[in-house]
Amino acid sequence: NLSNFYLPLRPIMKYINEINKRKTFAIISHPDAGKTTLTEKFLLFGGAIQTAGAVKSNKIKKHATSDFMEIERQRGISVATSVMTFEYKGFLINLLDTPGHKDFAEDTYRTLTAVDSVVLVVDSVNGVEEQTRRLMEVISMRNTPVFVFVNKMDRDGKNRFDLLEEIEKELKIQLHAMTVPINSGKDFKGVYDLHEKSLVLFTAGTKANDEDVIKINDLNDPVLDSKIGEKDANVLREDVELIDGVYGELNIDDYLSGKTAPVFFGSAVNNFGVKEMLDTFIRIAPTPRPRHTTIRDVKPEEDKFSGFIFKIHANLDPKHRDRIAFLRVCSGKFERNTFYNHVRLEKDVRFNNPYSFLARQKDVIEEAYPGDVVGLFDTGNFKIGDTLTEGENYFFTGIPSFSPEIFKEVVNKDPMKTKQLEKGLMQLTDEGVAQLFTQFGGNKKIIGCVGELQFEVIQYRLLQEYGASVQMNSLPFYKACWLTSNDPKKLDDFVKYKQANIAEDKDGHLVYLAQSEWFLNTERTNNPDIEFHFTSEIHK
Ligand code: GDP
Repeated sequence: NLSNFYLPLRPIMKYINEINKRKTFAIISHPDAGKTTLTEKFLLFGGAIQTAGAVKSNKIKKHATSDFMEIERQRGISVATSVMTFEYKGFLINLLDTPGHKDFAEDTYRTLTAVDSVVLVVDSVNGVEEQTRRLMEVISMRNTPVFVFVNKMDRDGKNRFDLLEEIEKELKIQLHAMTVPINSGKDFKGVYDLHEKSLVLFTAGTKANDEDVIKINDLNDPVLDSKIGEKDANVLREDVELIDGVYGELNIDDYLSGKTAPVFFGSAVNNFGVKEMLDTFIRIAPTPRPRHTTIRDVKPEEDKFSGFIFKIHANLDPKHRDRIAFLRVCSGKFERNTFYNHVRLEKDVRFNNPYSFLARQKDVIEEAYPGDVVGLFDTGNFKIGDTLTEGENYFFTGIPSFSPEIFKEVVNKDPMKTKQLEKGLMQLTDEGVAQLFTQFGGNKKIIGCVGELQFEVIQYRLLQEYGASVQMNSLPFYKACWLTSNDPKKLDDFVKYKQANIAEDKDGHLVYLAQSEWFLNTERTNNPDIEFHFTSEIHK
């Protein structure tokens, strides 16, 4: 049979061209470092938007705690721009936005599980800030490749070498300068691009594709002196020699394994230094990468579709009470109106109106490929970490839950609504708004969040959506630690003695609720056979 003979020629990696075209990443920063501005410049290069100001800042301005409806409204706006897709030089780039507000840090952590690389924006004046540090912990847990953009070079920032040292030390990552800045603040003259061997001169308010670039292969070329003056030319020569001596060529494997981060200097608001970074990004940033699951690694080029839910957004507006589940496609091709296996529920589901998130409008899509993010309307079937496949049973792993920082007991004020309350708590915590812990066989319910705001949202939604009225009583805990041990007897004993501090999470895992760092350290010292973890993976 001839067709059998030709079998090996069958295109095994059907979607390889689609996959190789895609780069999915997130921009992260401490609020105000310039994430929104940089995002906008990226989109301008991609031609996705024509004018500046089209990207809505997803910055949530907190006026008063009681203002959470306003915050939710702003969040609603930001959902529209949570995933932006643009084309640049033949690549299809998916940019995932992350909320800047600290109370939504969990959303950011989860978004980081759906990308293949990140761009970290650091303010040259403020250096590394608190939120950046925490985000970097998540990134290094996953060995995610990182680009660093040192922004606001037009302001009098820290010394360039001090800054590099600070970033390396604080973020525990090796840096590799890709451009070298010439002064900063008023005297900022531009950068020297080490890879392209060209001088990029700074002018404020640069438009896309409008940079003043001069090829200078040999830095001893007197053209350099004529462009930036002899003094700065000499400093640049020394800087480049020093940097070349220390770093040499960028090792792309070190970047891809998250060991080394290429660094660019620029000014987002002036669209300066952005193009150099974007060009390097499309050259070296990873295309969709394989993902771990509970049974095996799934490669993007596999024929069969698979993906997971990393974020769920519920709309609080009573006029649009919908939930959107964000699906990252991991392998194969996702198609509209096709049945897929919802692994946790063991049932087949299909989607009539899956949509892609384009810069300004939501478009219904017919298909999506690895690296893409699809928005699925959900009526409560999904929870974070859910996996869809074409039949195989596995879950994608590495989607973390972090220890909450504020804990409150939920007290039911209306015994007639006990069932509704249970249901509400289950569904809201499935969305990842908060974590639910139970004590004493489920009699005491504890909610843990990273920010005060979530408690208000939960209380409000329990009442509005489930008719359940609750009171929230503060509890004196500061962290929840998941417990594991190789010695079941020791763990059993510990749980017995420490009942008041032991709870179960939703999946029945044991946690220790610590009142303070001191208590936690004491228990750690006293119980060397028990491990205390600050994170838990949704699927292991
Ligand atoms: P985000 O909170 O990280 O999204 O920060 P934004 O992009 O909203 O920027 C915060 C502020 O910094 C805004 O007022 C921007 O105009 C300003 N900004 C952004 N980039 C630069 C820059 O390169 N230089 C200066 N001087 N200001 C900048």
